[in-house]
Amino acid sequence: MNLVWLRNDLRLHDHPIFQYLVAQGECPGMAVVFILPQHWQQPTTEYPGLTRLGLAKARFLRACLIDVQRSLYQQNIRLSLLGGDPVSLLRDWYAQQPFHLHTSAAQAPEEEHWLNAIADFAPVSTYDTQTLFSPQQLAELLSTENWPDSYSAFGRWLDKHGLPVAAPLPPTILSADPLEAPLKAAVQWPDHQLHQVPFWAGRVPATTFHGGEDAGLRHLAAYLGRENAIRHYRDTRNQLCTAPLSQADNPYAGSRFASQLSPWLAWGALSVRKVWADIVHWESLHGASEHSSWLKKELLWREYFHWTLRLKGSALFRNPAPQPFADTRWQAWCEARTGYPVIDAGLRELIHTGFSSNRMRQWLASFFIHELKLDWRLGARFFEQHLIDADVASNWGNWAYIAGCGQDPRGGRCFNLNKQLERYDPHLTHLQQWLPELGSVTLSQVQQHQSSGPTLPLWPAPLPLPAAT
Ligand SMILES: Cc1cc2nc3c(=O)[nH]c(=O)nc-3n(C[C@H](O)[C@H](O)[C@H](O)COP(=O)(O)OP(=O)(O)OC[C@H]3O[C@@H](n4cnc5c(N)ncnc54)[C@H](O)[C@@H]3O)c2cc1C
Repeated sequence: MNLVWLRNDLRLHDHPIFQYLVAQGECPGMAVVFILPQHWQQPTTEYPGLTRLGLAKARFLRACLIDVQRSLYQQNIRLSLLGGDPVSLLRDWYAQQPFHLHTSAAQAPEEEHWLNAIADFAPVSTYDTQTLFSPQQLAELLSTENWPDSYSAFGRWLDKHGLPVAAPLPPTILSADPLEAPLKAAVQWPDHQLHQVPFWAGRVPATTFHGGEDAGLRHLAAYLGRENAIRHYRDTRNQLCTAPLSQADNPYAGSRFASQLSPWLAWGALSVRKVWADIVHWESLHGASEHSSWLKKELLWREYFHWTLRLKGSALFRNPAPQPFADTRWQAWCEARTGYPVIDAGLRELIHTGFSSNRMRQWLASFFIHELKLDWRLGARFFEQHLIDADVASNWGNWAYIAGCGQDPRGGRCFNLNKQLERYDPHLTHLQQWLPELGSVTLSQVQQHQSSGPTLPLWPAPLPLPAAT
């Protein structure tokens, strides 16, 4: 039996595993499973109070699963949803009904550990489902000595070699036999329904993102087509607001400031090769521009972080040594009450929607590391809990970059919040969207509040910051 284990490749388009099984005529004997790791829902002692699935993130994942389940069902295939430890579940399953496992290649060390453990008792084939390039294309670089130590060096290497991004695979028809997939007979534990998995219950925050392949494909088509917002990407990508800004802030008011494709890319509901191909198609219609080139450049950042993690593994997380756990500062951060309005607004947005702009992520990480002086890994784990686009490589890679201990270490990136506010939110549009209780305050009042001047009456005073070292 062929068992397809979906993880962060929750789609049917451009999917090498399904493509392969169809080509081999193996679809009729195929079962498809998604396993929600039990520990994702449980707080760890290493990172106090944090889980791996905040509410917004859980909701996005749930929508992705419902969508892929529906698409498979339309092709007579049942997606089985299990919860628990992936290795133990698959071991028990294998004991009852041996299978050949087909799954995406590991990106993070945790996934590598799972796949290695499973390979001890079952045949495993892995596929590249998440990247623009294949390991064969990057073979020359894929050793710790040869891997470029900065994104710029990676970009130069790509320019020199002119690697083509493979076209997305053509659509596959999975024509399987009727719904009673072999899995049903083999599994002893109850078939988990989405609503029975405990974390799905409870209040979920509002977000403008809807998970799933179908929503992702529609979002991509609208971004490049009806909205045509790529036409100003380079000019607007640094804005803060997920909601449209007012005309005063933005000549493109009402138009999407960046692609906001990351949540679908992170869960594999959109294939990055499909995104790339559609941008190239847009260029063939409208002409390549600084905007379309810049968007592709950002996708190459994603690629760079992905392969860096694949190559360096857990070594990325060990640097520097952990700091002692600082309670007051951490608590204030978690409650979005640091007393720095810019930061508290960003944290509220992140916690409520599961998303924040790239600029805001940089401010938050810079503040956490360089002002609060907390261990960057704790901040990265906080993001991982909340972000609907949480992606181990991009998240930890960016945090390490800002901390100055990842790739391209140049002492870290530290942002001056008052200057940044003046530049990116001069009319306080974002700030007041997320902190409405501030009332009508001026930019200068907020700046003074954030720099030991008179404090705002309706917001807590800034936390005392540790002395600079
Ligand atoms: C501290 C920090 C943590 C981050 N954590 C994540 C994360 O968990 N998951 C994630 O996908 N991105 C992460 N990013 C990168 C970036 O902020 C988001 O990809 C981007 O804001 C998503 O919005 P967008 O799709 O509109 O991006 P766009 O500006 O439209 O970019 C298009 C795509 O390029 C990729 N991309 C853009 N910027 C980056 C970048 N700096 N690094 C890697 N890929 C990039 C993303 O896939 C994105 O969807 C993080 C950045 C910082 C500073």
